[in-house]
Amino acid sequence: MSHVFPRHTKASLPVAAKGDGCYIIDKSGKKYFDGSGGAAVSCLGHSDPDVTRAIKDQIDNIAFAHTGFFTTDPAEELADLLIGAAPGRLDRVYFVSGGSEAMEAALKLARQYFLEKGEPSRHRVIARRQSYHGNTLGALATGGNQWRREPFSPLMIETSHISPCFEYRGRREDETAYDYGQRVANELETEIERLGPENVMAFVAEPVVGATAGALPPVEGYFKRIREICDRYGVLLILDEVMCGMGRTGTLFACDQDGIAPDILCIAKGLGAGYQPIGAMLCTADIYQAIETGSGFFQHGHTYIGHPTACAAALAVFKKLTGGVAGRVMPMGDKLQAALTDAFGQHPHVGDIRGRGLFRGIEIVEDRASKAPFDPKRGVNKVLKKAAFEAGLICYPMGGTIDGVTGDHILLAPPFIMEDAHIGEITDKLATAFKAAF
Ligand code: PLP
Repeated sequence: MSHVFPRHTKASLPVAAKGDGCYIIDKSGKKYFDGSGGAAVSCLGHSDPDVTRAIKDQIDNIAFAHTGFFTTDPAEELADLLIGAAPGRLDRVYFVSGGSEAMEAALKLARQYFLEKGEPSRHRVIARRQSYHGNTLGALATGGNQWRREPFSPLMIETSHISPCFEYRGRREDETAYDYGQRVANELETEIERLGPENVMAFVAEPVVGATAGALPPVEGYFKRIREICDRYGVLLILDEVMCGMGRTGTLFACDQDGIAPDILCIAKGLGAGYQPIGAMLCTADIYQAIETGSGFFQHGHTYIGHPTACAAALAVFKKLTGGVAGRVMPMGDKLQAALTDAFGQHPHVGDIRGRGLFRGIEIVEDRASKAPFDPKRGVNKVLKKAAFEAGLICYPMGGTIDGVTGDHILLAPPFIMEDAHIGEITDKLATAFKAAF
């Protein structure tokens, strides 16, 4: 009997025994193409020798040193490189162990910033209904995923949720994509006015929505308008690039493609590429200085922040990404989108195929004309995941609540090292899954 506490207590899982490039091989020898990098994690695949060597070298020197006493070379070098590449006035990096921790740090930093600035009434967070920001209580309260939130709602801080920028579901026939984006962005202004600007601390959003919407990019102009509104009311813009950052959408940071920069940026998954657990929160010089010239102490922390071995792994990942691997994402992503559209664009149960770079979502509908989703009781996304897994393809399924409508989608986020031949493997195995599901 196993003593591991699994996610699904009734599941019986194969044992992952080895990683080989884009594949995971289980103990029985079965090979799975990692079409979602777990959950958009494994951007370099599973057996990168340079990252492995960097981890070994770091452990040979020193595996761990507490940040209350020391800084380390990999943390310093990685922070310099991240800031050199980051958009806008981002100037400082706070290393944590994952995405939820990065979001918690962001929320607490935003709150402390306003306390240090003498604006103590600012505490309210506005986010979007179609969003996921992590499973710890602050991050969970920020996200809009009803299914994840509901059981824990009595434990959570009060958060407002406005509409997502979801063109496929939300744009009216009589408006352009741009006008639609402005309309939903303006909901932020309405909500800030309703709450009173003096009470609002931050707006939080994923530039390209991952788990709850299946690689959902914004329309042009949406984030520019969001940035304007935040600036007008002195509200901090926190972008959650935990899933969509680190080259996943074709640029190192997803918001680069929207021509804006946040006040606080969170990254994780692709930062360590799965080789070590690591996340980071980046903030502007203004925010850092408010603390530096104020109390001088960010009232937060975890034992493993700035973990040297995790930073060494992420440093090696970063060098590989910026040394050429990230450059593969945009052209390969375009090919993947074209192949998915070819294979499934006319499928009676495929409503939308979308995304950026190697971050692609397929939205499943019962009826294409009305965009009506399947009855959630059918668990179509789960059926597809299982059938794809049996066919040897890992994809990330979700049913998400979309303004009261529950829809199914699957997310693809394959390793950046994938080759052209893998595209056919993905579409063939997905086709097998679709046949099994419908
Ligand atoms: N934010 C986003 C956008 C995510 O997709 C996730 C995880 O899926 C998180 C935050 C939480 O990250 P973690 O699971 O590393 O805590």
